[in-house]
Amino acid sequence: MRIRCPFCGERDNGEFSYLGDAAPQRPDGLDASAAAMHDYVYLRDNPAGTIRELWYHAAGCRSWLVVTRDTRTHAIEAVEPARDVARARRSGEAA
Ligand SMILES: [Zn+2]
Repeated sequence: MRIRCPFCGERDNGEFSYLGDAAPQRPDGLDASAAAMHDYVYLRDNPAGTIRELWYHAAGCRSWLVVTRDTRTHAIEAVEPARDVARARRSGEAA
């Protein structure tokens, strides 16, 4: 599988470290309940299809990326800098 880093271009996936599903958001600070933290830490979906995942370009630009990938075919639909996704997420919350 090859990943097109928005900063470095197309690279072998061996240059990247996989973190997992990009969807879960950490509950807010000390107000988070134990159940909410449990869900955040342990519960993940395992879809057969499109998923957004966090990847780290460890052997390249050291950027965190959000890769939209089909788990059945490994076809990559999009690669975005994680900071852009986080900013869009925050601006969506503010609206
Ligand atoms: Zn890169």
